[in-house]
Amino acid sequence: MASVPNHRIAVYTGVFDPVHLGHLDIIRRGSRIFDRLVVGVGINPEKAPFFTLDERVQLVRQVAADIVNVDVQPFDDLAVRFVRSVGARVMLRGLRTLSDMEYEFSMSLTNLALDPEIETVFLMAKEEYSHISSTLIRQIAAFHGPLDKFVTPVVKAAMLARMKERPYAAGS
Ligand code: ADP
Repeated sequence: MASVPNHRIAVYTGVFDPVHLGHLDIIRRGSRIFDRLVVGVGINPEKAPFFTLDERVQLVRQVAADIVNVDVQPFDDLAVRFVRSVGARVMLRGLRTLSDMEYEFSMSLTNLALDPEIETVFLMAKEEYSHISSTLIRQIAAFHGPLDKFVTPVVKAAMLARMKERPYAAGS
């Protein structure tokens, strides 16, 4: 059934492998701009994940548990279809660097071509988080480096547990 679009709902999609403080900052700031923010946890068909989809959803739910208007859901479809499926027409994205900008620019134009009714809104990363990426965090974890500046304690604990089970589980 087609849902009625609500421009006060936004969707923030990502792989979140793992969710880090940069993501959490965008989630928090997005939740203050929109009435409801749906965080869509997706899959990257080209990469073996560090955490399963279910684990990533649980971790995002835990780190965002105190934000009442945030809802975390898995999805395995085109992002624009997921946005429509929750009744939204706005996608929220975070921008870290100029190189992000090139990628995000092509992605937002592609999404606009796929569904012209869906707009992408960007928030600039806060300076203190602009260097953080899930890829770098997985690499630090693989060498048992300190994670406290990048992730919340619950994510750190989950990463350490995963590294114990699979010492070289850095994902790809
Ligand atoms: P990553 O690039 O860290 O693997 P994702 O693919 O899950 O993360 O990214 C999801 C969204 O979060 C994208 O819009 C991305 O630009 C944004 N994002 C990623 N890292 C940061 C950060 N450090 N600060 C702000 N936004 C970020």
